[in-house]
Amino acid sequence: MTATLGGTELAAGIRAEVATAAAELAAAGTPPRLAVVVATADESSAWYVRSIARAAERTGIACSVVDLGESAPPDRIRAELDALSADPAVHGIILQTPLPAGAVVEDLAASIDPAKDVDGANPLSLGRLAAGLPAFAPATAEAVLALLDHHGVPLSGAHAVVVGRSTVVGKPAAHLLLQRDATVTVCHSRTKDLAAVTRTADVLVAAVGRPELITAEHVAEDAVVIDVGTNPTPDGGLVGDVEAGSVTGRVAALTPVPGGVGPVTTALLLRHTVASSRG
Ligand code: NAP
Repeated sequence: MTATLGGTELAAGIRAEVATAAAELAAAGTPPRLAVVVATADESSAWYVRSIARAAERTGIACSVVDLGESAPPDRIRAELDALSADPAVHGIILQTPLPAGAVVEDLAASIDPAKDVDGANPLSLGRLAAGLPAFAPATAEAVLALLDHHGVPLSGAHAVVVGRSTVVGKPAAHLLLQRDATVTVCHSRTKDLAAVTRTADVLVAAVGRPELITAEHVAEDAVVIDVGTNPTPDGGLVGDVEAGSVTGRVAALTPVPGGVGPVTTALLLRHTVASSRG
């Protein structure tokens, strides 16, 4: 029997808490504002940005999308991030990926004021997270932990295996799991015999970006599996990094795609924006 670790109920609870806080902040004269800087024509990115903007507005957070066009040079993007960082009316800044060729996200994100870095993209934020200092964690990585906590999955002493080492998901998820006293292994494209490693996981986090890479041969029978993957399908749907059909019935619990990590990620971006507005 495999439990479904859904994220929609958790996300709704976070959005309700955010809406209350946003109303209080607006009444006190500091209406929270989020800015999303876009420099791509990528359709799945546009879909994601629309979903953030909708969720922000529904919770009383103003959201400006600054579209610089898909051929924006790095200096133009940096100048916009500098201007938003200096603007006292803006409390949260997201630099959307992908970026134009030649632009390096970690380099440009260094221009986001860490106090407004609600998606933990500035390398300073990741460094502080690794050092155990207060910082905004990338929302997707934090969503992994929030889902595990919401569903009461014990982490202290558990073996957590993270597949993927990106700056935005894999590495920060590993740091957050370490902070919770899990024993953490990080896998990547050069890992030898991936299935042999992932089968030792009590908690398996798949953040790979390869549709259904993780199958029944990769999982232990009692594992808890968090599927971060959001891979578009030709029919306009989404499929995760885990082959749900083959692992269901074998593992203890699995997050759905969609409806797992995704909605919690968006809700946490809004919670971070409200926290930044409070100063
Ligand atoms: P990414 O930057 O492309 O990183 C992918 C990671 O997976 C890399 O570390 C790569 O290893 C590793 N990898 C690739 N192929 C592998 C293989 N065959 N075996 C083992 N490891 C492999 O991707 P990302 O930005 O972290 O995103 C990962 C997934 O999460 C994507 O599906 C993305 O759409 C999704 N995502 C979801 C949310 C959400 O809110 N739900 C948010 C962000 C991302 P190397 O480092 O060796 O190349």
